[in-house]
Amino acid sequence: MDTVILESCHSTWVFDSARMRFCRILKGIEFAKRSVSTEWRPYWDLEINPGDETFTVYLNATRTRVIRSWRHTKDCVQCGGHETTELSLEDIRHAVHV
Ligand SMILES: [Zn+2]
Repeated sequence: MDTVILESCHSTWVFDSARMRFCRILKGIEFAKRSVSTEWRPYWDLEINPGDETFTVYLNATRTRVIRSWRHTKDCVQCGGHETTELSLEDIRHAVHV
């Protein structure tokens, strides 16, 4: 699996760069002892901005449909750094039904 994993405050974003699709694993929510993930969605491009910890997901080729989010960091300015849950690769594989 060719993946890029990004942590935002409320979810773990999983980008399957080989198949150009992504999903999110929601933090703090479990169903039947499994993490809850969204359906896979196609995307066109992913841009990570190391300067301000933001990233942009382009959903279409003309780049008119975008999702912007923040990366969750150790001293996170978005949530105050309270969320500490980090999923292992194993957890992620389990959650996203690869
Ligand atoms: Zn945060």
